Amino acid sequence: MSAPNIETIVSLSKRRGFVFPASEIYGGLGSSWDYGQLGVELANNIKQSWWNWLVYERDDIEGLDSSIIQNRLVWKYSGHEETFSDPLVDCRECKSRLRLDKLDIDSADGKAVCSNCGSKDLTESRQFNLMLRTTLGAASAEEDESALAYLRPETAQGIFINFANVLNTSRRKLPFGIAQIGKAFRNEVTPGNFIFRTREFEQMEMEYFCRPEDAARIHQEWIDGFQTWLHGLGISKANLSLYEQTPDELAHYAERTVDIMYRFFPEREDEDKQWDELMGIANRTDYDLRVHSKKPEDADGKRINPDSTEDLSYFDPQTNERFYPYVIEPAIGVNRTLLAVMMDAYTEKTNDKGEVRVILKLDPSLAPIKVAVLPLAKNNADIVAMAKKLKGELQPSMRAVYDDTGGIGKLYARQDEIGTPFCVTVDHESLVDNAVTVRDRDTWEQERITVDQLKEHLSSRLK
Ligand code: ATP
Repeated sequence: MSAPNIETIVSLSKRRGFVFPASEIYGGLGSSWDYGQLGVELANNIKQSWWNWLVYERDDIEGLDSSIIQNRLVWKYSGHEETFSDPLVDCRECKSRLRLDKLDIDSADGKAVCSNCGSKDLTESRQFNLMLRTTLGAASAEEDESALAYLRPETAQGIFINFANVLNTSRRKLPFGIAQIGKAFRNEVTPGNFIFRTREFEQMEMEYFCRPEDAARIHQEWIDGFQTWLHGLGISKANLSLYEQTPDELAHYAERTVDIMYRFFPEREDEDKQWDELMGIANRTDYDLRVHSKKPEDADGKRINPDSTEDLSYFDPQTNERFYPYVIEPAIGVNRTLLAVMMDAYTEKTNDKGEVRVILKLDPSLAPIKVAVLPLAKNNADIVAMAKKLKGELQPSMRAVYDDTGGIGKLYARQDEIGTPFCVTVDHESLVDNAVTVRDRDTWEQERITVDQLKEHLSSRLK
């Protein structure tokens, strides 16, 4: 099973320390969220899985960490200043501010319907730029245009403007990719649904540069590859689907874009409405490298970018050709991935006493804590000392915790709920036979393992 709705994950997250509402003691800040002691570990494990898979396990991808704040010209030539906007309408009835492209259209009269109150009395739509603005420098006044800067709305542009730097220093040949994880900011009109849509979020983007004639095939390979990776994170295939963007949905730079959708809203009656975007995989053509290059000219022979000092073309020594590579971009949010992973891992199980218990069946590689060491009797000094010693011995090779703040049943239930794959219990017998009980999160089965075999036993089962 998976979570029946996002609300279930919101309350589990708050109860156990995955995600808290930001600025809560001051009444919160709408759509901002803070990652607690377990959420930060889960997010780190997701990022590590992505990075390992792309940068370490393959031989054709380099990493990068570019700045959040760049020269404003980056966003001028990328097209973001002009086109990175959503169509905005206001409902005259309930005064909600809405994104027109997300509203239902009444089939009878073709009018958009307010998602809040159902009214069709909406204002004309106007474009609202999503980039968050700031000013740079001590002397800058609020309205000083020369001091204006943006917080990046995507990590991708940092990769394009560093294309030549990475190419020349890594001595790469096409095809190759550049991967980056980092924060991005969008002044979303309607943030919401927990961490699904926020104004500050984290992206994992990879730009894979290739010859134009290979782009369609490589695009399809990444669409297949990412479905496999997501499935490997423990997300069931039944909750993943593909959506092919229609020509009028495509971004101005894209030739083809396929979204991988997750069933974020299983409670919705209409099956079509259960799905929303987890990630997008776009064929961005040679658009980005061209617009940031100094050489390309328009039809009248005028340079399209008179400000750039670099030409981001590629010279192929084998064919003696110079051209702008195509780029395939798989872009995924850390936060949406974390939400999908938690929803999919959520399970309920009834124990012998008829009580419903929550088990978060996270893939062991993602689990925030790998093993909890628990003393059966917290007032027995020898048991406590042995449990604490074991925790210390396990910690360097796997994230381990010691907990004695409740009865054993309660401690097990707590670890199940946060997805800890194993509990190790030290009991009176352990002092005699130097063995402990290892309990499995998913089956609740227990086995007796000697202390000298414990680390190896757990390590092999965590793989
Ligand atoms: P949407 O249509 O949902 O607004 P998008 O198509 O604009 O998303 P992209 O620009 O393709 O999103 O960004 C790539 C990924 O970054 C998305 O698939 C999503 O996982 C994540 N992402 C984008 N915007 C947000 C946001 N406001 N909050 C959280 N994650 C986001």
